[in-house]
Amino acid sequence: MSVLVVGSIALDSVETPFGKADHVLGGSGTFFSASASHFTPVQLVGVVGNDYPLHELEPLRGRGVDLAGVEQADGASFRWRGRYRHDLNSAETLETHLGVFSHFAPKIPAQFRDAPFVFLANIDPRLQLQVLEQVQRPKLVACDTMNFWIESRRPELLELFGKVDVVLLNDGEARQLTELTNLVHAARWILERGPRVVVIKKGEHGAFMFTRDSVFFAPAYPLESIFDPTGAGDSFAGGFIGYLARADDTSEAAMRRAVVYGSAMGSFAVEQFSIGRLLEVTRADIVRRVGDFRRLVAFEAELDDDGAPAPGEIGAGA
Ligand code: AMP
Repeated sequence: MSVLVVGSIALDSVETPFGKADHVLGGSGTFFSASASHFTPVQLVGVVGNDYPLHELEPLRGRGVDLAGVEQADGASFRWRGRYRHDLNSAETLETHLGVFSHFAPKIPAQFRDAPFVFLANIDPRLQLQVLEQVQRPKLVACDTMNFWIESRRPELLELFGKVDVVLLNDGEARQLTELTNLVHAARWILERGPRVVVIKKGEHGAFMFTRDSVFFAPAYPLESIFDPTGAGDSFAGGFIGYLARADDTSEAAMRRAVVYGSAMGSFAVEQFSIGRLLEVTRADIVRRVGDFRRLVAFEAELDDDGAPAPGEIGAGA
């Protein structure tokens, strides 16, 4: 099953404690596509300016990303400049230049309108709503957002939540949006506004998936070297939705597996600047890393028949 994604196609300038990259390929749509293309065909819709190095998107096409919905408009491309200090979990936005993005009205090509899986990547919620008006009854719609839009487009964002199945956001965004410190409360607050699933990502501390009556958690992969956290969230979303689309399954069991595929793809994204690592990673690398996730949390519980720890097992000798 194919995935339609509408998101930013950016030129990013990023500074991390490990180095610096200027005007490299970035954007929520770009990272998502690079990641999801490991699972399923992707249809990317977005806008670039006439300064955009379009040839740099060719490797995505080579990976099965249909670029027919990438519009080139007169003006400057969307540019984002960010910095990570020692806390690699949160980006400090230094500059956002919307450029051609500020006049963008997404036009979903006719051949993409029946996409069964739709991801509304981090863009203006008004545009995310416009996309939903153009697609025909997808099986699953998921969306992402960020502080920039939570501050400037809150009513539209809440309207959007009433129209999607899955909301993905990070812990800081969840707290900012709901004004609740406790993430369980924040997730419930979001679920009450419409979606049936909320995924709250906590960077190097893993990701929670909440439904109305369950909670699932996957750790983050304990990487020895993180180079650039930019795009981890979009790559997570690419693994998550890409897996569901490939399996053509939106059950809770599939979503739990999808959280692990998402975590695996996020962990690859941060190993290099831009989409570099996502482009070179292989199927075998993904399978191996998902196996590592399994081992990371596998343990044998020594439980009595009633489910309680056997006497003396916990704190024995203490
Ligand atoms: P993340 O996966 O959350 O690290 O997303 C990083 C990407 O988001 C970068 O490549 C940026 O180009 C993009 N980005 C930053 N700010 C915005 C914004 N206001 N709207 C859309 N995309 C953005």
